[in-house]
Amino acid sequence: MIPPIASRFVAGTTVSGTLDHVSDCNESGMGGIVNLLGEHYHDRVPADEDADEYCRLISELAARDLIGSVSVKPSQIGIDIGPDVFAENFERIVEAGAEEDVFVWCDMEDYTTTDTTLDVIESTAQDHPHGVGVAIQANLKRTGDDLRRLADVPAAVRLVKGAYDEPSSVAYEKKEDVNEAYIEHLEFLFREFDQGIAVGSHDLEMLETAIDLHKEHDTPFEIQMLMGVREDVQRDLAAKGYEVNQYIPYGDKWMQYFYRRIRERKENALFALRAVVGV
Ligand code: FAD
Repeated sequence: MIPPIASRFVAGTTVSGTLDHVSDCNESGMGGIVNLLGEHYHDRVPADEDADEYCRLISELAARDLIGSVSVKPSQIGIDIGPDVFAENFERIVEAGAEEDVFVWCDMEDYTTTDTTLDVIESTAQDHPHGVGVAIQANLKRTGDDLRRLADVPAAVRLVKGAYDEPSSVAYEKKEDVNEAYIEHLEFLFREFDQGIAVGSHDLEMLETAIDLHKEHDTPFEIQMLMGVREDVQRDLAAKGYEVNQYIPYGDKWMQYFYRRIRERKENALFALRAVVGV
């Protein structure tokens, strides 16, 4: 059971409750991107179990005829055990997605996993063109090269700023530098990409830039935002006719995700404090 304080950011611990939330999103004109919480498994058993759960989730999304996709973390399905375990489990989930016409996103974790994640995405996308997408982080200095590589791969890209504390040798540290890189990468994507662009940001400047680039190039795109963050903006954009998909985490392992959201922003910490003291 998720305490009310965390339920702003996490849909619940059960598949059925989570899919009810996806259904609510659909009614507000948005899709849902469902993420089973879990990361950094060093044993094969939980990694395989989570891959199984993603396959069941895909069947349930299809059975309920919901507008939704799934998003998987590499370390949840075996990248820390070995690239082959991750590749096998990811392939299995993508095959389930292909059978039910459910799109599979791959989250991106810290920079030590980028090469393996991109290799697995590239080979899976060759077998399942337009069935997979991957998050790419603007804070990493390598990202321009990665986007040029992905331009020839039939996989969608979700551009995010990057959530991991990375060494300065590989990543921009200043917010302005990350924002500048994000805009530069958006320009590249809208110019060169026709295999799917997702703008994964709550930053109004990034969203406005994407909308302007869409008007200039007529390249299709979608907006992705987290459950519980700027939901008024999400609904407004959907009402204006943009494709908006809400990233919806669920599962028993909600505590770590919840504290990450709280630590990230002063306003979330105040929200948590108000919920505790009842003001
Ligand atoms: P920021 O400049 O951080 O925020 C802009 C404004 O948005 C803030 O001023 C604030 O008003 C609001 N805001 C942003 N975050 C919050 C919050 N938590 N609570 C309240 N208000 C907030 N990162 C990865 O490294 N790998 C991934 O695979 C990945 N997947 C993601 C998927 C989605 C759909 C989204 C939306 C983000 C994902 N991220 C991922 C996280 C991302 O990298 C950023 O850390 C996060 O989105 C914050 O950056 P921002 O673009 O929203 O801009």
